[in-house]
Amino acid sequence: MTAPLPHISPTTAKKLAKLNIHNAWDALLHLPLRYEDETRLTPIADTQIGQSWQIQGQITHQEITFRPRRQLIAQIRDASGGLNLRLLHFYPSQQKQLAIGNTVRAIGEVRLGHFGKEMVHPKIHPISEHGLPQSLTPVYPSTAGLQQSQLRRLISQLLEQQPPSEILPANLPHIPPLPSLADSLRLLHNPPPDISPQQLDDPQLPARQRLKFDELLAQQLSMRTARAARQQQRTQAIIGTGKLNNILIQNLPFALTEAQQRVITEIRHDLARPTPMNRLLQGDVGSGKTIVAALAALTAIEAGQQVALMAPTEILAEQHHHKLRQWFEPLGIRLVSLSGHLKKKDKTQAQHDLAQGHAQIAIGTHALFQQSVEFQNLGLSIIDEQHRFGVAQRLALRHKGQAVHQLMMSATPIPRTLAMSFFADLDISTIDSLPPNRTPIQTRLINQTRQHEVEGFVLAACQKGRQAYWVCPLVEESEQLQLQAACDKHQELVQALPQLNIGLVHGRLKAAEKAAVMADFIAGKIHVLVATTVIEVGVDVPNATVIVIEHASRMGLAQLHQLRGRVGRGGHTGHCLLLYSEPLSPTARERLKTIYQHTDGFEIARHDLRLRGPGELLGARQSGLPMLRFADPEADIILLEAARQTAHHLLTHHPKLAQAHIDRWLPQSETYLGA
Ligand code: ADP
Ligand code: MG
Repeated sequence: MTAPLPHISPTTAKKLAKLNIHNAWDALLHLPLRYEDETRLTPIADTQIGQSWQIQGQITHQEITFRPRRQLIAQIRDASGGLNLRLLHFYPSQQKQLAIGNTVRAIGEVRLGHFGKEMVHPKIHPISEHGLPQSLTPVYPSTAGLQQSQLRRLISQLLEQQPPSEILPANLPHIPPLPSLADSLRLLHNPPPDISPQQLDDPQLPARQRLKFDELLAQQLSMRTARAARQQQRTQAIIGTGKLNNILIQNLPFALTEAQQRVITEIRHDLARPTPMNRLLQGDVGSGKTIVAALAALTAIEAGQQVALMAPTEILAEQHHHKLRQWFEPLGIRLVSLSGHLKKKDKTQAQHDLAQGHAQIAIGTHALFQQSVEFQNLGLSIIDEQHRFGVAQRLALRHKGQAVHQLMMSATPIPRTLAMSFFADLDISTIDSLPPNRTPIQTRLINQTRQHEVEGFVLAACQKGRQAYWVCPLVEESEQLQLQAACDKHQELVQALPQLNIGLVHGRLKAAEKAAVMADFIAGKIHVLVATTVIEVGVDVPNATVIVIEHASRMGLAQLHQLRGRVGRGGHTGHCLLLYSEPLSPTARERLKTIYQHTDGFEIARHDLRLRGPGELLGARQSGLPMLRFADPEADIILLEAARQTAHHLLTHHPKLAQAHIDRWLPQSETYLGA
């Protein structure tokens, strides 16, 4: 599909591979970082301090001095004046290039040295018979041992000998008028004489817009193709009787919100079709996704199918098991939990029950999808906090049942632009309002030096019958240190608050120990739970109303929002106390300010997107989503919209061209989209 690179040595090939250049197309898309203006010479006398200039003159003096260290100093003169060129480390070839009597061009920033104007480590060119370059000189991202001139030559040669063909038909509706792909690349790699570096860097430059458009189009096409392929698959339609749903709804101590009812209808509608559902249920922390999952599960069970519910942590899996048991056992449904702390015998029993169809629902961590777990008739799999799972895990899950219906849940909302781009093959349901009894969480930023007052606050809350989380600092460098910090903090609080029962939970505890601590906390036997970030997602203990987060500045926005979501889940006001210590970096300050000012997860996600970019926000490396190199869905929303419509048009009228475009831009797309 993409042409190989022409005549290059294996060594060069290796260096190019470091830049992710493996073929001609990769090379053409390797765009300059910036451009240098070597088209004009400035008389030496006219150069000004602090700016970059290109001068030309004759070398009139050269010496190697040793003070303060070995360096080469050469004087260059033109008709207007002279200045010094200073090289702090140099090769013999450079010494030769700057031999007295040679005429050279030098490019660099002019500074004021001890002996007047100078350039330190200028770029030196011999004067050539072609005269000065006519246009701006591209500067490429490079790697050790690969010269700019090599990259420039390679790319120019490719542009000349095998410019990319135009795959897209002319006169596509919905596209803003844009230059051809070949012209766009020529402009960016070999800019014409009349264009300035500012013009070239402008994101609105038509040549750049063309590349962004093509990239967004490829993304849209691959998403739509994946979606169409999925719709070709057949699976059992799940049509529930509604019986179990109705009983559970009647037994609930609360009424479903309108938003919950709406998303349940959307899910049932998907389930009733013979093509596998691929739906993401997003809703802010505490918006009540679990009951929605439970009702979806009941629909499948009503239709005689089995359900798998997967959670990213054992604590959360255990909690789901606990909660669903309360809801489901009165309905005569058998649940099995496949978490890590099962005894061998119980595990074998659970597996047997699933394989024979005696149990209707299995709950667990990714252990649920190990080879040995077989279902008799898996119809629906539900993944809670899906952003916490890697691609491999999601693929394993998908392959377990023959194209089963899949419901993913996430509290990390996807801003609209990302939903339109990266998640275009997903259907999205959104719970856009919280249950009615909630009062907004009070967030406070408190200097770590005032821990004493914070302890007092926690004590007062617990004396009123509430409970608290105390989240220990994140120590990224070492899990061991993090554990130590949690144990130390536990000791410290035991001493400071002798009236209270202080518990401790962290990732190194055995699954059964974790479960025991959490059970005590849920039962109210523990007042204050000292925890690492293991409690970050999902944990639901409505009586806990205070969360203290130490070194909050080290955490990301999504993480802070999730942690804060552990409180404010019942009728009592939640309090989130964010402890920080000075000095704070500007980004840390910005994050704390955002979390302090906003409680809406969508708003916070938009800020996160601005602060971190889509790659980080989506956890690209682990999510496996093909990232965009040129386009930014947020900034390029108009192009994104055009790409969406064009994708639809191409797939309808020119399916072959659509495939060719995908193959060119996303040669590995299938692996991603399977997940
Ligand atoms: P999340 O969306 O973060 O997973 P949960 O499903 O854990 O949220 O629900 C948070 C809390 O809100 C739970 O204690 C749950 O019982 C409660 N809840 C869910 N739906 C409602 C509702 N409609 N009215 C009142 N409380 C609700
Ligand atoms: Mg949840």
